[in-house]
Amino acid sequence: MDMTILCRERKRCRSGKVGFFSELAALFAIVSIQNGAHGERIPRRAYFCPICRRWHLTSMTRED
Ligand SMILES: [Zn+2]
Repeated sequence: MDMTILCRERKRCRSGKVGFFSELAALFAIVSIQNGAHGERIPRRAYFCPICRRWHLTSMTRED
């Protein structure tokens, strides 16, 4: 059974978070979530993830 089709470049991130292809896309998602949120777990900024090479959202405010 050939598994190459199933796992071609589809590395799932260890964090389990949603990955965005660009910082702009991540920031856009933050704004849309903030507009519809009701006060809990609102993402505040985006950070680049070296594991999956995409952008994730975080609710942490402090800089790394
Ligand atoms: Zn990641």
